Amino acid sequence: VMGHVDHGKTSLLDTIRKTNVVAGEVGGITQHIGAYKVSAGDLEVAFIDTPGHAAFTQMRARGAQITDIAILVVAADDGIMPQTVEAISHAKAAGVPIIVAINKTDLPDSRPERVKQALLEHELVPEDFGGDTICVEVSATKKTNIDKLLEMIGLQAEILELRSRYKGPAEATVVEAQLDRGRGPVATVLVREGTLKPGDAIVAGTAYGRVRSLLNERGENIKEAGPSTPVQVVGLCEVPNAGEELVVVKNERMASEIAAERVEGQKRAAIQAPAMNMDPEEAFGALGESEEKELRVVLRADVHGTMEAIHDSIEKLSTDKVKLKTIHSGVGAVTERDVMLASASEAMVIGFRVRPEPAARKLAEQEEVEIRVYGIVYEVLDDMVRAMEGLLPPQITERVLAHAEVRQLFSIQGVGTIAGSYVAEGTFARANPARVVRDGVVVYKGPLSSLRRFKDDVREVAPGLECGIAIQNFNDVKVGDILESYVAEESRATL
Ligand code: GDP
Repeated sequence: VMGHVDHGKTSLLDTIRKTNVVAGEVGGITQHIGAYKVSAGDLEVAFIDTPGHAAFTQMRARGAQITDIAILVVAADDGIMPQTVEAISHAKAAGVPIIVAINKTDLPDSRPERVKQALLEHELVPEDFGGDTICVEVSATKKTNIDKLLEMIGLQAEILELRSRYKGPAEATVVEAQLDRGRGPVATVLVREGTLKPGDAIVAGTAYGRVRSLLNERGENIKEAGPSTPVQVVGLCEVPNAGEELVVVKNERMASEIAAERVEGQKRAAIQAPAMNMDPEEAFGALGESEEKELRVVLRADVHGTMEAIHDSIEKLSTDKVKLKTIHSGVGAVTERDVMLASASEAMVIGFRVRPEPAARKLAEQEEVEIRVYGIVYEVLDDMVRAMEGLLPPQITERVLAHAEVRQLFSIQGVGTIAGSYVAEGTFARANPARVVRDGVVVYKGPLSSLRRFKDDVREVAPGLECGIAIQNFNDVKVGDILESYVAEESRATL
């Protein structure tokens, strides 16, 4: 559940929880465990109880994608506000479909139509306007249309064919975890696939153990937790991080071995780590070689007009080879949320006449997110072009330094065919590879295995002299071939 502050996220979650607790078990004291399940007709929905896109993106940055549907709460009296826009960007960047809950429709100055109209500007086209964005007009405090909202969630789940496997070992994601005085490490996990049971050997990051007990949000022991069930797990040896994957393995020994291996891996990574001074272009280029290249950007500018102008002009830089995509843009200083979004989406952050907040700068260092600040538009454009070019594999050009004509062939045992050649131009070097050109066509290229003058190995042969040349793994050289000595030079590809 995401949206602007005070638009009613918490109220909506409370109302849903109070009116729809699973199957009649009313009266139980619900504890805050980070997620809970409600029933809606024949459907059960798990809500993540940490509202807000910051938490959502933080999870995603840790590699966890547990949200199937995002509920965007917009207060009907206030309309689309900056954090609403952020929430839309965060959900879109994650590829999570959005259902809009237009809240506070009980208020006299509520304008649901205006909200729908404004959604259009953010590429969310409400069904009323022929689009596919579901909008439900609700009131969290008056409890109106909550059923309808849940029904729409169900409908969307059906359309998206959200399905999970019930049988077999569980795969879950840690939503929250803490150290409990009496029970030791306690993790709230959301099961995604399979069924988690007491006695299962589990590992989550570097934490491992055996499920001692499973508790629901009312603190009751349960015997199993199937897909989309949030459950508290007791029995891990240490507190795992939120966002970590919890999996069931064969036995506890295997769990402890996996955990130990991960600890080792972390140690090694810590030693080798700081790739920080790696060229950012290189770092970006290293991502997904085969995929279509895309430079993702989170943009911040001092004023709205400038933000839009830069947004439009940098997106226009896109070519067939590399796309530039602004996943979020906003006015004001670069925030921690921007950095988190960039981290989760492998994007960079651009600030135009704005600076990052100190906390954002710190987080960027931690998350290894690049923040670049500019004051002049063409500098942004130039730099973006360079960053986009950096995503392309470098261009290799071969520069010919010398050529020799093959005049005579010798076959020497253990070495192969030696081309008795005359260096017509340039200096032929032992260290450089050579191309074999026959009738104007390159038939082979590779490093030399020998370069000789008379009986002596030499490093280079000057023009006008004769020598013996052998090319590694190539014995098919013929009289009349031209051998070209060359160097391969890397140059930056252009867009
Ligand atoms: P959050 O910051 O998005 O979690 O918003 P809250 O749930 O804390 O709600 C902010 C304020 O709006 C509170 O004073 C709520 O009582 C009020 N509020 C929430 N939903 C409604 C609603 O449907 N109608 C009215 N009139 N007020 C609401």
